[in-house]
Amino acid sequence: SSSALSSTSSHGSRGAPHIILLPSAGMGHLVPFTRLAVALFAGHGCDISLVTALPTVSSAESSHIAALYAAFPAIRQLDLRLVPFDASSEFPGADPFYVRYEALRRSAPLLLGPLLAGAGASALVADIALASVAIPVARELHVPCFVFFTASATMFSFKAYFPTYLDAVGAGHGVGDVDVPGVYRIPSSSVPQALHDPDNIFTRQFVANGRALVTADGLLVNAFHAMEPEAVEALQGGSVVSGLPLVFAVGPLMPVNDLRETREAAQEQGDYRAWLDEQPPRSVVYVSFGSRKALPKDQINELAAGLEACGHRFLWVVKGAVVDRDDAGELSELLGEGFLRRVQGRGLVTKSWVEQEEVLRHPAVALFISHCGWNSVTESASNGVPVLAWPRFADQRVNARVVARAGLGVWAEQWSWEGEEAVVRAEEIAELVMDAMGDDGMAEKAANVREAASRAVADGGTSYRSLAAFVRRCTAWR
Ligand code: UDP
Ligand code: UDP
Repeated sequence: SSSALSSTSSHGSRGAPHIILLPSAGMGHLVPFTRLAVALFAGHGCDISLVTALPTVSSAESSHIAALYAAFPAIRQLDLRLVPFDASSEFPGADPFYVRYEALRRSAPLLLGPLLAGAGASALVADIALASVAIPVARELHVPCFVFFTASATMFSFKAYFPTYLDAVGAGHGVGDVDVPGVYRIPSSSVPQALHDPDNIFTRQFVANGRALVTADGLLVNAFHAMEPEAVEALQGGSVVSGLPLVFAVGPLMPVNDLRETREAAQEQGDYRAWLDEQPPRSVVYVSFGSRKALPKDQINELAAGLEACGHRFLWVVKGAVVDRDDAGELSELLGEGFLRRVQGRGLVTKSWVEQEEVLRHPAVALFISHCGWNSVTESASNGVPVLAWPRFADQRVNARVVARAGLGVWAEQWSWEGEEAVVRAEEIAELVMDAMGDDGMAEKAANVREAASRAVADGGTSYRSLAAFVRRCTAWR
């Protein structure tokens, strides 16, 4: 808003830096940004402005942003009205979130400068998807620019190394296994699907942002040393690429309790809370594939049959459309009346948004069948809920490997993801769920990850110290 732009008088009143946060699109990026905002504001006394690109892609994003300002009125809102561009002709059929990254990347050179200058910033923290366009703008204004990587440290190391890998194999060759120096080998089958196509809109952005990392003033990642020691050490020790700036591993950033949706919205969402409260401890399988992708219809059917056959209680968030505003279909159309009737009481299926972190914290929840979006992984880690990893897309197979290595859960590596034909059958799903639900060792290991996560973010822990070191950096620059 224009008033936020002109009101610079109170900045620095606490001797604290004024940090401008620039997220990109989608809940997977917005959620860690709001967690970072609150950690810096409430935990470290920083002045915070959050840039909101309007209009948002999903209604989940708009309500999350509204909840943040309602709970923290002192966090400033800086609106960025995007320059319109016609994605349908240039990138027909492209993912709406990637298209939004592109719109932001095109608007930033024009709009970000005035926004930064007007706000009187001590530092800019830009989302990874905007790194290569945000850094030059900040540099011109002599504002230090940090880049926040919202996914795993292992994926970050892959991203930082990928341009070097491409230069080495040369143009025209397919992407094979990628051996990230100091970390480990990422097999070709785990490389995000889009990166196999050099002309994909996402690939162009990914490579440009990867190359730009060495020009940032520092890098933040929502990860912690104990969960990904190889990647965090390799990034900090300079073995991934030479010339990387300081890397601050500050995760897992903690959820903000005040950001639950309004009471009305909660009532609209049916009664999953009341239902969970009625279930015995550690009896429920929570199933969700994140906020930005729908499973194919035939896979939804197999998953339904698998959940029915496993015999356990379950809470399943079904997504029928990529963008939530387009999702008008009925659950019964998607799953059939028969299924819903047969599992009634034992299984709760919803198409609405649930407060996932609250679900994972609930004592009734025993297992998370997850696509391994990184926020879902960090939320499972901080609550010690074992994960049955079923990655579908993008960085999720890389994250699934992290889950398995860290002992947070198991990854069914042979299960297909987007772009592969095979449908995972109900029997396989049921079998794996039954195994995981009976595996006390797995639950114990997941509890150990929770302990490690809570040590990392507690006063004196590695992530706490990293965030404090980052704030000192911002302060020193002023
Ligand atoms: N989320 C939620 N309720 C839902 C679906 C998603 O609260 O019904 C949250 C989830 O807790 C996480 C974020 O949205 O914080 C999704 O990010 P993630 O990285 O897990 O996956 P993405 O949606 O980006 O694929
Ligand atoms: N740190 C980090 N990345 C770096 C340097 C430091 O994440 O490249 C973290 C690390 O966890 C360390 C903390 O920041 O424990 C403090 O770092 P340092 O002692 O270098 O900063 P100082 O306390 O001297 O300001």
